[in-house]
Amino acid sequence: MQLPREVIVGKGTLTRITEVAQRLGLSGSALIIAGPKSCEVAGKQVHDLLEQANMNVDTLLVKTVSDKEVLAVEERIKEWKSRVLIGVGGGTKIDTAKLSASRQGIPFISVPTTLSHDGIASPLASVKGLNKPYSVMAQAPLAIIADTDIIAQSPWRSVISGCGDAIAKFTAVKDWKLAYTEKDEYYGEYAASLALMSARLVMQNAKLIKPGNDEGLRVLLEALISCGVAMSIAGSSRPCSGAEHLFSHALDMINCPHAMHGEQCGVGSVLAAYLHRANWRYIRGTLKQIGAPTTAGELNVKDEDVVEALELAATIRPERYTILHKLNLNREACRKVAKITGVIS
Ligand SMILES: [Zn+2]
Repeated sequence: MQLPREVIVGKGTLTRITEVAQRLGLSGSALIIAGPKSCEVAGKQVHDLLEQANMNVDTLLVKTVSDKEVLAVEERIKEWKSRVLIGVGGGTKIDTAKLSASRQGIPFISVPTTLSHDGIASPLASVKGLNKPYSVMAQAPLAIIADTDIIAQSPWRSVISGCGDAIAKFTAVKDWKLAYTEKDEYYGEYAASLALMSARLVMQNAKLIKPGNDEGLRVLLEALISCGVAMSIAGSSRPCSGAEHLFSHALDMINCPHAMHGEQCGVGSVLAAYLHRANWRYIRGTLKQIGAPTTAGELNVKDEDVVEALELAATIRPERYTILHKLNLNREACRKVAKITGVIS
């Protein structure tokens, strides 16, 4: 089990990166992975701060997250003899840093500039080109430094997506429990409780999650970090990814362009909650309150895409038993579920 050693959350916390590096005994060369935008808002500052702390610092800008980018970062780690990798940005930059650092056997520090999904603290990375639409095991961050002043500058839509990803744990945990009772799969009560608590935290504090409210951002940040820790404890994405995630992966596969990961997972969670005979109206109501999509139109996909994705979802990852595998719905049954829950008209 790998857990972060330091988690620093709050306003203006970026400047504490040097103190964290010193406490963790990091010295020598550091490599920063950032995107052009995240480099401007935080990467440059991290670069300067670490240089002032007598580290040799190099910054590599990456655009997408693909197997080629990961290989390029690995090459740079070897050339630069990096002792630590620092991922500065949203999901893609952090995933690239996470996977390349893990493959090269060096630690990585997560510096999120957006909160679009739970990858900021998880040990898993989602990378295109690995022939898997879902995340693969990498390593947990050694430290997380989340500055809410910086995150507050990110597009509001990414916050909404993060909320959808957190709320999705409500059904992910139900699927995990189902696999435990019906397929004798390993089930960890502590990891499951942690993931479920994250979903509840966001749902109960939905009214705080609005632009300009630092308290709302903090609730979401703490929920997403707890999700990452839940995955580290479970040793897989099981507590945080069930039928709703399979639905989102299926939408990614059949429809391009599609909505953001957390937005799709939120809608997937409404569908999965209905299938679990759980309180799907509460999930839908909370998503609406936050301003997250609850319909195919709001996800910017066609009604038929939703129906097809729901049918396709169970085939993506046969080993991950969920309510979709248990019910084995045909196209018509999927259409009915999408209609009853108001996802399609
Ligand atoms: Zn997710």
